[in-house]
Amino acid sequence: MAKSSCTISFFKNDLQRTRLNEGKCPVKNCRSKLQQVPFRRHKGKMLYLPFCPEHGIRIHKTGFVYFNSLTKEDIATATKRNLMFNASFYLENFLGQAAKIESQRLCYENSEDAVTFNVFTELLAKSHALKKLIGQITKANAEEGTELHLWGGKIDLKNNRLSQYNPLIEVRRHLEPDIVKFVTEPDIMLVVPKKVLVCIEAKFGSKNPPAEEIEEGFDEKPKSRAKLIERYCKKNPIINYNEIFAFSDMPRVFYEQLFRNVVFAASMAKLTGIERWYVVNLRSQHVMNLKRGKPESMPVVRNMRKILRPMYKKRFLHFTWEELYYGIVNGDTELHDLAWYMKNKTLRCGRAFNVL
Ligand SMILES: [Zn+2]
Repeated sequence: MAKSSCTISFFKNDLQRTRLNEGKCPVKNCRSKLQQVPFRRHKGKMLYLPFCPEHGIRIHKTGFVYFNSLTKEDIATATKRNLMFNASFYLENFLGQAAKIESQRLCYENSEDAVTFNVFTELLAKSHALKKLIGQITKANAEEGTELHLWGGKIDLKNNRLSQYNPLIEVRRHLEPDIVKFVTEPDIMLVVPKKVLVCIEAKFGSKNPPAEEIEEGFDEKPKSRAKLIERYCKKNPIINYNEIFAFSDMPRVFYEQLFRNVVFAASMAKLTGIERWYVVNLRSQHVMNLKRGKPESMPVVRNMRKILRPMYKKRFLHFTWEELYYGIVNGDTELHDLAWYMKNKTLRCGRAFNVL
């Protein structure tokens, strides 16, 4: 079985994107002989991908994946290589646990979950930073005691504890009792108890998924616009959807994941007596610049606000990792390591963020 003892992480200056296009190991000057490792089954056949044993990475067309071997220990090692901050918290509380969907995918270079975990747990560790972020998002006075929840669990770094957020469980019980794959899981939630609730849908290299006019499986979330509205609004016993949403003039693109985030934010806030709730789509300015002209760069804000009543339009916000960097991270001596990470993090072996 293919195995590597490499434990280091690779950043912008270690990699060369052109080597990736040539099917070589993307690490500069690597001369190691590549092996083939099984990747996944497709139409009954096993697909293989090249693997560099010296650098412990599996090489994909669009980037790389840290890969040591498929034993439990080596999956933990590979995951750790992509987590610069608070890795042990992730390994102990999320990896291999039911609480996190696809918990073994954080070793992918393009994992938005890995970037989310790194950036947000580090902001939490330097607690003044989360307070500042919530102030920047809500344009209100910064709030004390901001909680960080990732994938539905409250992160307590000091006590190495992860706890469920009960309002989320309650909303799922009402709206998704029959859904198995997969229930709605806001990537990031910032909660100031009794005051503010922010759901953040983080994107790194991928797009916001639109509703599609196709049938879903029997235990899946609906995919079509009409069925989404039926399930999450018309049959929602927690909120009066008519106060928040307007569906008379439909936008060209109905972003189903962002729509569910709005429903969940409003519903969780209602259950906990919080009046100020927000949904934020967090994206990379750098990736948007690269994709300009393609559907991905269509104005998400305009499409989303079109389905919100005037009073609620500004509950949906768009924010970039770069704005987060320049507004919160840059120049803060306590966040020096995080600044380094954001400057040197890669996507497809090139820079991930437009930060200098
Ligand atoms: Zn190599």
